[in-house]
Amino acid sequence: MERAAPSRHRFQRLAVLGVGLLGGSVAMAAKRAGLVAEVVGYSKSPSTVNVARAAGVIDHGADSALHAVTGADLIILAVPVAAIGPLLRQIKVAIGPTTLLMDVGSTKADVAAAAEDALGRAGRQFIPCHPIAGGEHSGVQNARATLFDGHRVVITPLADNLPADIDAATQFWERCGALVSQMTPADHDAAFAAVSHLPHLIAFAYIDAMARQPKGGGYLQLAGPGFRDFTRIAASDPTMWRDVFHANSAEVLQQLQLFKHSIAAFEAQIRQGNWSLLESMIRLASQSRREWSTPTPSDDIA
Ligand code: NAP
Repeated sequence: MERAAPSRHRFQRLAVLGVGLLGGSVAMAAKRAGLVAEVVGYSKSPSTVNVARAAGVIDHGADSALHAVTGADLIILAVPVAAIGPLLRQIKVAIGPTTLLMDVGSTKADVAAAAEDALGRAGRQFIPCHPIAGGEHSGVQNARATLFDGHRVVITPLADNLPADIDAATQFWERCGALVSQMTPADHDAAFAAVSHLPHLIAFAYIDAMARQPKGGGYLQLAGPGFRDFTRIAASDPTMWRDVFHANSAEVLQQLQLFKHSIAAFEAQIRQGNWSLLESMIRLASQSRREWSTPTPSDDIA
């Protein structure tokens, strides 16, 4: 009998659960890199799956998560973080002994706990991942193969993960164009509460305050580039961010306390007319912001 030719692909079948901005982009980046032979996609709404298939983001659509992952050697969950545990329970029976699983969720301690809880022994095949790439325009129509190029992906390994699986996950993201680093789930959630979750909360609250003012609509008509830069992320997806604030509430509340302390100090200088003290506080903040640099394009950080 003739031996089958070895595949040039690292994975034969990628199943993407949640074919939105992140899930669609992973599918496209993996295909661009020649990492996967075929992609099967599943999302809650059949219309999303149809759009993804028509656009060539996925090769096949599935009518359930279980059907999508059957026969897959790589499974990526790209749904809001609260949906990850329930989905893992649904697909558990179809996970093969060598299947690799990853997620792209914005919080990690809850996802790690959900994976261990839902999968039991198969939890060792699940590598929690967070690409620091995305944006406020969600949905598969905004997916692109270049989304991860030059952006960081943080992997937060579980205690039971095999080194070979962590290596495979690292290589996958690197071939998708990303720079990979590792943290513990707890350190990840503390850091991203500070640099991502709190700024989103502040942006949502600021727009809320504007929208509630009787003349707020008129003021918004006058807003310029500073407003645009400061509030871009307030247009982000409500379900995704509800889940993030829920999953990481303790760290977000801790960061919020620090922020309230700071803003109270700025307020006090204005109330008391301490203009030179106010200026030195602004000077310090301005200097810190000028000294900040990032290896990734700053307009795309999630
Ligand atoms: P998205 O564009 O809204 O895509 C989410 C997809 O998940 C949608 O297709 C949605 O289906 C599907 N979905 C939701 N609940 C589901 C369920 N229970 N079962 C199956 N499919 C379900 O969101 P996204 O921006 O890609 O975010 C996805 C994940 O990436 C989130 O965990 C988020 O925290 C993380 N993330 C996002 C960013 C960012 O900047 N956006 C950055 C880093 C990480 P329908 O189309 O049918 O609603």
